Amino acid sequence: MELETLLKKYFGYSSFKKGQKEVISSILAGEHTLAMLPTGTGKSLCYQLPGYILSGQTLIISPLLSLMQDQVEQMKRLGEKRVVALNSFLSLSERNKVLRQLDGYKFIFISPEMLRVPFIINILKQLTISLFVVDEAHCISQWGFDFRPDYSKLGDIRKTLGNPLTLALTATATKKVREDIITYLGLGKKEMKKIESTIDRPNIAFNFERLNDYQDKQNRIIELVSQLQKPGIIYFSSKKAADQMASLLMEKGICQAMSYHGGLDSSTRVLIQQQFIHNQLDVVCATSAFGMGINKENIRFIIHFHLPMQIESYLQEIGRAGRDGLPSVAILLYAPGDEQLPFQLAESEIPSELQIDWLFEKLLEHSVQNDGRMELNEELSLLGGFSEIQWRIVKEYVNHHENRSTNSELLRTSMKEFIRERLRVKQDNIYQMKKLVDSSSCRREFILKYFAEEVVEQIPSCCDICGVDLHDYQADANAAISQISEENWQDYLSKILIHSELSE
Ligand code: ADP
Repeated sequence: MELETLLKKYFGYSSFKKGQKEVISSILAGEHTLAMLPTGTGKSLCYQLPGYILSGQTLIISPLLSLMQDQVEQMKRLGEKRVVALNSFLSLSERNKVLRQLDGYKFIFISPEMLRVPFIINILKQLTISLFVVDEAHCISQWGFDFRPDYSKLGDIRKTLGNPLTLALTATATKKVREDIITYLGLGKKEMKKIESTIDRPNIAFNFERLNDYQDKQNRIIELVSQLQKPGIIYFSSKKAADQMASLLMEKGICQAMSYHGGLDSSTRVLIQQQFIHNQLDVVCATSAFGMGINKENIRFIIHFHLPMQIESYLQEIGRAGRDGLPSVAILLYAPGDEQLPFQLAESEIPSELQIDWLFEKLLEHSVQNDGRMELNEELSLLGGFSEIQWRIVKEYVNHHENRSTNSELLRTSMKEFIRERLRVKQDNIYQMKKLVDSSSCRREFILKYFAEEVVEQIPSCCDICGVDLHDYQADANAAISQISEENWQDYLSKILIHSELSE
C-alpha cells in the first residue's frame, strides 16, 4: 500500500509535511536514521506511521514527561489503545501491571530513568522491538543545550536490546551534536542516514534592537505590541518581568495579554494555552515554559525581552511564529549588560562546588551507617538547598557513575569537573548569543552558519542588518479576533481541564 494511503488511513491527513516521507521511507528501508526537522513539522508521525507498518513494537525514549503524556493522550484520542507511557507518573502497582502486559502494547513511551532499572530492561529484552526511537536526541550530547547524562547510556541499552532499527529525532542540533548522537548511540558514521531539513524559516524576519535600559525596553514593547499584527508571544527569563508586562499591556488597554510561567498552577496554564490557541488572547508574556506542544499556526511575532541562553532555544522559540507560512517577525531587544542575567541563570542551574562538598560529606556519613551504599534522598536535596534542576543533575550524575566508581572521593572530583565543564558550555552558548546580537553582518547567515548551513537564497525581508521594514508587520485595522461566547468557553474549558489534570 502506498504511504499516502496509510497516512490517510491512520491519521486522516492527505499529504506529508516536509521531511516526513523521507524519514519514514528511510526507516522502512531498514536504515538507522537521524532526522533533524524543525519543531512543528510533525516529528511524531515519523515513528508512528512506521510503527503501524512494522510488525513488532516501537519503543520511544523521551526526556520530557509532560510531552510524553501529551503524545500518549493524542494517540489515544486518535483511537490507538495499544499505547502506554512508562514513567514516574505511574504508581508502583500501575507500573507492575503495565509491565506484566507490556507485549500487548504497540507503542511504548519510556523515560530515560526507567531504562536504568535492570528489571525493566529484562522485560524489554523479551519484546520484539522493531523501532527504537530517541526523541529530543540532542540531549545525548554534552554540547547539546539540554544534556541528560541518562541519555548517554542509550548506546549500551540499544546493544542490550539487540541493536534494533533506530530513529533519532531532534529539532535543533549543531554539527557537533549530530555527530555525538550517532557516536553515543553506538553507531558508525556510515551506519546512520542523516536527514536534515534546513533550520531556516524564510518567512520570519529578524529585527534586533538596542535600547538603553529595562525601562526603555518596556516602553518599546508597548509601542511594538500596539502596532504589530497579533497574536504574538513575548519571551522573558523572569516570571516577575513577564507578569509585569502582561499587567502593563492590559492596564494600558493595548491588548488582551496574560503571563505564563512555571509559577502558575496547571489549570491556569491550560486555560491560558487554550485561550491563546482560540484567539481569545492577543499576547502571552511567557517564560520558556510556554510553547512546547502548542500548535498555533498564525503567530505573527515573537519578541525576546531578555537575552536567550543559547541560539538553539532562541531558534526554537522564534520557530513558533508563522507556521502558516505568512510573514512574521522575531524581535530581540537588547540593553547593555543584558548578558548578566543568563550568566546568573546558568550558574544557578548547576550545583555549586560547595554544595557538592557538603553533599559528599553527608553521603559519606550515611554510607558508613548503610554498608557503603549511598542514598540520594529528597531530604538531602532540601537540606543542601538544591533547586529542582540542580538536584536532577546530581542524581543523574551519581546514578550514571556509581557503578564505575564506587570510590566517593573519585566521584566527588569527577562530578566537580563535570559541573565546571557544564558551566563552561553554558557560558560559551551565552557568548554565542551575544555575538549574534553584536554581529554587524546578516543575522540569518550567522544562525545558519552556527548549524553548519549556508544561506541559499536572498530573502527580501531578512533581518535588520540586511534591511527590514517593520511597517510590513503592522496590524490590519480590520482584523478582529474571533470570539467564543462566554458560555461555550466555560463548557469547553471544563472538558480540557479534566484532561489536563490527568496528564500533569
Ligand atoms: P513536532 O514534534 O515536530 O513539533 P508534532 O509531531 O507535534 O510536531 O506535530 C505537529 C502537528 O502537526 C500536530 O498537530 C500533528 O497532528 C500535525 N501533523 C503531523 N503530520 C501532519 C501531516 N502530514 N499533515 C497535517 N498535519 C500533520
